Amino acid sequence: MADATQAAGLPELLAARPALSMHARDGLCFEGVPLNAIADAHGTPVWVYGAGSIRARYAALTTALEAQKLNVHVHYAVKANDHLAVLNIFRHLGAGADVVSLGEFLRTQRAGIAAADVVYSGVGKAPVELAEALGAGIGQINVESAEELEMISAIAGRMGCTAKVVLRMNPDVDAGTHEKITTGLAGNKFGIAAQDIPALYARAASLPGVEPVGIALHIGSQILSPAPYAEAYAKAAAMVRALRTAGLAVSVLDLGGGLGIGYGDEPGMPLAAFAATVRREVGALGVRLLLEPGRYLVGPAGMLLSSVILEKQAGDKRFIVLDAAMNDLMRPALYEAWHGILPLGAAQLQNPVSPADIVGPVCETADCFAKDRPMPPMAPGARVAILDAGAYGAVMSSSYNARPRAAAVLVDGGHFHLITPRQSIAQLWEDEAVPA
Ligand SMILES: *Cc1c(COP(=O)(O)O)cnc(C)c1O
Repeated sequence: MADATQAAGLPELLAARPALSMHARDGLCFEGVPLNAIADAHGTPVWVYGAGSIRARYAALTTALEAQKLNVHVHYAVKANDHLAVLNIFRHLGAGADVVSLGEFLRTQRAGIAAADVVYSGVGKAPVELAEALGAGIGQINVESAEELEMISAIAGRMGCTAKVVLRMNPDVDAGTHEKITTGLAGNKFGIAAQDIPALYARAASLPGVEPVGIALHIGSQILSPAPYAEAYAKAAAMVRALRTAGLAVSVLDLGGGLGIGYGDEPGMPLAAFAATVRREVGALGVRLLLEPGRYLVGPAGMLLSSVILEKQAGDKRFIVLDAAMNDLMRPALYEAWHGILPLGAAQLQNPVSPADIVGPVCETADCFAKDRPMPPMAPGARVAILDAGAYGAVMSSSYNARPRAAAVLVDGGHFHLITPRQSIAQLWEDEAVPA
């Protein structure tokens, strides 16, 4: 990750996050609520999400798009954070959803998001998943291959319904992000090669059970510059024109997600520049525009609170061992992701710092949240907030090492609400059976 991120010290991390504030007595507060009060009430590790932050980020995005006179419908990418309480906020904001499994689709239904406002993406949708989503009236299916198109046609045909489909084009654009989260390069498993789209679109128009309505693309995640979008959207616009020239009707362009956030003290995707790019490349096509952001909307709106179990010195190396681990927040182990980590105590922010590795108790070397991070002395029981963990955090957690799932709390309007109780240890095996 960028050097700017690595260099961000504790005061810079705090200053870059307006929803956080440090109070002499209460310590670190999030949306006005002392995080220590949440940890006192519900223990650690605990996820904390801020409803106000989610709403503010949604408003910033839609305002930037509206300023370009763009009517873009936001379909929140559920995989970033699928909690019903989070989906409920998006429903109230009027957002649709983007899902990648039947489970995610049924979560949106449970949260009250209209099926017609849901887009189903993903490279492998099983026939039972497709049938159930079609039966519930899902609004759009993003098709990732010729084989899948035939499958959807057969299933919808049997069910006597018509699936609105868009073809996901692989624009062969390098999003300039981590190789494990780039999706729009030829050679990735995602999407359909551009040269195959026109014939497949025509085929879709002739098949029963499907109605091709447009093109989709999604080039990757944690993208910090509008440049790769400009390149990809120009290719999408050219494709829309080519399809129309061939006499095919195109009414939808799904722009995907991937807007990046600042994990250090650097800014995330510049929204005004992004919106200007959308307007310039695809604003005049006369299509319904969809956007599928996940991380941008919820990443900075969440954090993982954890307590220090102990500090240990091994040779000249200093380790801070937390009660949170890679089974809770997997991103550092999976992507070498950088997360800011702030102590909850006001005094700790004044104390001199020295480099420490901040690790969890899981028996894997990869169970490390930060390497050589300047941190003040942290006594057993002292607490930290692992920042920007609202996206791809709890959704990726597991119970590895027989560690129960952490609790989750939603802060809203100066109050906090338990939205997932901590899993008990006995719940870990309550569904297991031992044959006689
Ligand atoms: C993951 C994904 C998204 C959301 O990506 P973010 O980087 O979280 O914005 C959107 N669309 C598709 C198809 C995805 O797979």
